[in-house]
Amino acid sequence: MIRARFAPSPTGPLHLGHAFSAATAFRLARAMHGSFLIRIEDLDQSRARDHWEAQIYADLAWLNLTWETPVLRQSTRAKAYHSALQRLWDQDLIYPCTCTRRDIADAVSAPHFGPDGQVYPGTCRHKPKPKTMPTDTALRLDMAKAHRRDLDYTRVDDCGIEIGTVTVSPGHTVPNVGDPVVSRRGMEAAYHLAVVVDDAFQIITHVVRGEDLEPATAIHTVLQDVLGLRPPKYHHHRVITDERGKRLAKRDDARAIAAYRDDGLSPSDVLMLVGLQK
Ligand code: GLU
Ligand code: ZN
Repeated sequence: MIRARFAPSPTGPLHLGHAFSAATAFRLARAMHGSFLIRIEDLDQSRARDHWEAQIYADLAWLNLTWETPVLRQSTRAKAYHSALQRLWDQDLIYPCTCTRRDIADAVSAPHFGPDGQVYPGTCRHKPKPKTMPTDTALRLDMAKAHRRDLDYTRVDDCGIEIGTVTVSPGHTVPNVGDPVVSRRGMEAAYHLAVVVDDAFQIITHVVRGEDLEPATAIHTVLQDVLGLRPPKYHHHRVITDERGKRLAKRDDARAIAAYRDDGLSPSDVLMLVGLQK
């Protein structure tokens, strides 16, 4: 049984890029006679708002999408994330990192930047580790230890048909990320950890996301391997940009789905704007 999902964060209005991503996932699920799910990625409780979550449902319903209920919220999943972290800790694959942004900036004279900001230089990797997993510091995945062999993930097209595999090789996982954070201070799971734990928990078979997240997919493949989770297949779609070619962001309120609706556009007009016919 095919299960695809759309996983928005309730931190602002959905814009055209989200409409494209959600509709693409929905259509893939439909094409394969499967289910479509929404997951609310509200890990960042300082920015998540109930009214944005309500707006997400209103916008997606207006686009004529339907989804399975109840909807899973990441803010209810702390226990599952904790046990995944404990498994990584027991395998000696994660380590505490006490670096501030400042420390990371000061550690190297020629810093590298990647999709997660400045590449972590590995300062805390070889410090002695406490006996038990600490909760008062960030935890990072030791990529060199976690990623020991070639790992593959399967790519599918927008109808869910397999179009090949991608091999992620040790040392090349994501050259410009370094050891990613999997938990923040206070045992708050980070995106990379939560997403693989929840995709497995929700038995997601097909992940549909923008090609800007393809580097993250490589990290997720490694995490799935060390956590013993079955990897879904991936469709990385083109990214919707503004007229200057910049990726749309939450702050592009002018391109919010609700703004188009209020201007009198129909749901199919909005889907046409992102190149999806009715
Ligand atoms: N919350 C993430 C986002 O909105 C989820 C994307 C994903 O993991 O596919 O970008
Ligand atoms: Zn550190």
